[in-house]
Amino acid sequence: MSSRKTGNHFVAAFFQSKVTRWTIAGGCVLAACLVFFAKPLSTAVLKRVINYRLSGMVHEFEDGLHAGLCGTGSPLADIKRAGPCIAVVAGKHLYIVDSGDGSTKNINLMGFQAGNIDAVLLTHFHSDHIAGLGELMLQRWAGGSNKLPLDIIGPEGVETVVDGFNKAYSLDTGYRIAHHSPEVMPASGAGGLARPYTLGPEEDASAVVVDTDGVKITAFKVDHRPIVPAVGYRFDYKGRSLVISGDTVYSPSLRKHANGADLLFHEALSPWMVKLIHEQARFFPFPSLQEVTEVIPSYHASPEDAAKIAGEANVAHLVLYHIIPPLPSPLLNSLFLGNAKTYYKGPVTMGVDGMLFGLPANSKEIILKTIL
Ligand SMILES: [Zn+2]
Ligand SMILES: [Zn+2]
Repeated sequence: MSSRKTGNHFVAAFFQSKVTRWTIAGGCVLAACLVFFAKPLSTAVLKRVINYRLSGMVHEFEDGLHAGLCGTGSPLADIKRAGPCIAVVAGKHLYIVDSGDGSTKNINLMGFQAGNIDAVLLTHFHSDHIAGLGELMLQRWAGGSNKLPLDIIGPEGVETVVDGFNKAYSLDTGYRIAHHSPEVMPASGAGGLARPYTLGPEEDASAVVVDTDGVKITAFKVDHRPIVPAVGYRFDYKGRSLVISGDTVYSPSLRKHANGADLLFHEALSPWMVKLIHEQARFFPFPSLQEVTEVIPSYHASPEDAAKIAGEANVAHLVLYHIIPPLPSPLLNSLFLGNAKTYYKGPVTMGVDGMLFGLPANSKEIILKTIL
């Protein structure tokens, strides 16, 4: 008998065996089931994923102050950090301080309901602090079917910024009003409404810009010259307080207004790291980068400056944000901080997008979570 005949005989015997036939039949039934049930199975899995994601986007905040870092970067491109933005929950109110590029997505991902935003507070009008405003106004309108436009509170000049965004989004607004019911997109709620305020001539001038339901927000001058006006904000609610520096160099006004705060969010720029970029930029065709990196340390604070303010103002916890330059690895954090810890003995946190700080009402507790 030839080996070919033996092989054929073996194959025939294999397919005729009961085990093989049952296995093949079972495989066919399973494949048919998978084809038949693929869509219902996928749908069930997707539903679970969607519910999980949506439930993760609904936060119940306990009474107190809460601050979410929706953007800890600067104008320099940083894949891990959106432009400057801090979401503050104060009692039942939600405020957004600055609206950097990409920060509106973080606001949603972190579980803040854009439709519930009470107001945006701008520290100044450098593009990195306002670039996300159009999307933020849209999300607040669409997300909450609001009948009144979003209040944008800021020093003089805020009217120009808000007018510009309202104009730029006017066509989009028209499309949405035409395509959705007035209950979902009430025309009266589109865009923003500028709420300018003026501070006195003193270098430490301040004004209470919000005072409602026990929530007090104070705007105060900082020093970001030649950019004027530039302000920081202090939030007070039920014995807790947090302060946001905005962009500034070491500022006695900030030190005064941050006095005794639970949390200080302070911008920070590492002068020696920026100098390094400046020096290396000479070898590349980027003359503007060379010029910018030469100038920016003169109107931003170093980590040591921020630590001095935190120490002198006796704040409980310092958080750095508006990090310049972008840091490719957290391993560089300690190099970035330099000698900051010699000026401030309390905890120092390098802010990262997605961090959430909680200050429960009438307590000393500071809770830190990372939710992105
Ligand atoms: Zn600035
Ligand atoms: Zn800035």
